[in-house]
Amino acid sequence: MVRTGNTAPAEDAVTVPDDGSGPLRDVVYDLDDVAVYYGSYRAIRGVTMQMHAQEITALIGPSGCGKTTLLRCLNRMNDLVAGTRVDGTIRYHGQDVQAPTVKPIELRRKVGMVFQKPNPFPKSIFENVAFTPRANGVPKKDLAEVVEGALRQAALWDEVKDKLKQSAFELSGGQQQRLCIARAIAVKPDVILMDEPCSALDPIATLRIEELMVNLKEQFTIIIVTHNLQQAARVSDTTAFFTTEGKEGGVLVEVAPTRKMFDSPADQRTLDYVTGRFG
Ligand code: ADP
Ligand code: MG
Repeated sequence: MVRTGNTAPAEDAVTVPDDGSGPLRDVVYDLDDVAVYYGSYRAIRGVTMQMHAQEITALIGPSGCGKTTLLRCLNRMNDLVAGTRVDGTIRYHGQDVQAPTVKPIELRRKVGMVFQKPNPFPKSIFENVAFTPRANGVPKKDLAEVVEGALRQAALWDEVKDKLKQSAFELSGGQQQRLCIARAIAVKPDVILMDEPCSALDPIATLRIEELMVNLKEQFTIIIVTHNLQQAARVSDTTAFFTTEGKEGGVLVEVAPTRKMFDSPADQRTLDYVTGRFG
């Protein structure tokens, strides 16, 4: 079925489709035949899909199929890589993100990013979260509240409330990643992009981040790249599977509600991948 914000019924008449994908959600990203090039190399193509509010969308597929490339286009982080070009259309709440009027810095304020390896600033725990809100003009008297709120939302407050002045580097890897999530949340984004956020973490720390993601999706749209199929199956509502065809680069194979993707995918290549016969 096609799910678009335009056709979503009124709040009091939310219907639950019987495919198990949950109530209808607003479209946040609408991608139409997107392809991304590095110079003359087309790293990914054929990406027509939507990402919905209050959902976790997982991007899965073998290494090199263009997941990171696609993710970085969503908030124009690809601008920072010389020689990249995007074909097709990426609409964010209806606005073409490639349009010359779009200011990438403003877009990135709405669409935050969490990276593979936790990358806290070489500053105190407090400062890591306070830094950007302060730069954005949050008055000094309000900073402590903003920091506490973000740390609570990132499920880190209880572990760090007595050592806010300590260096972020004294935290464990999992705590550092939750700190980076707190830092992303502190500017009240709309979307959080996560590129394999648990790949450097142990299983316990990974589970904590997964729990956190599920809680955060009530408030934020989350788009996650993961090479961990179980993770995609556990946390995401919608899954997009990409594959790579050698010199032809990556391509979107299919996108579907996560349960369908794992139980009865439409494409043989997806089935081979999710059942471990490939990749
Ligand atoms: P994934 O995240 O799925 O592993 P990437 O998006 O990182 O894949 O990469 C997709 C393809 O684009 C790969 O073939 C990779 O080598 C190539 N690529 C990635 N970044 C660059 C770059 N900055 N310049 C040229 N090629 C790149
Ligand atoms: Mg990647």
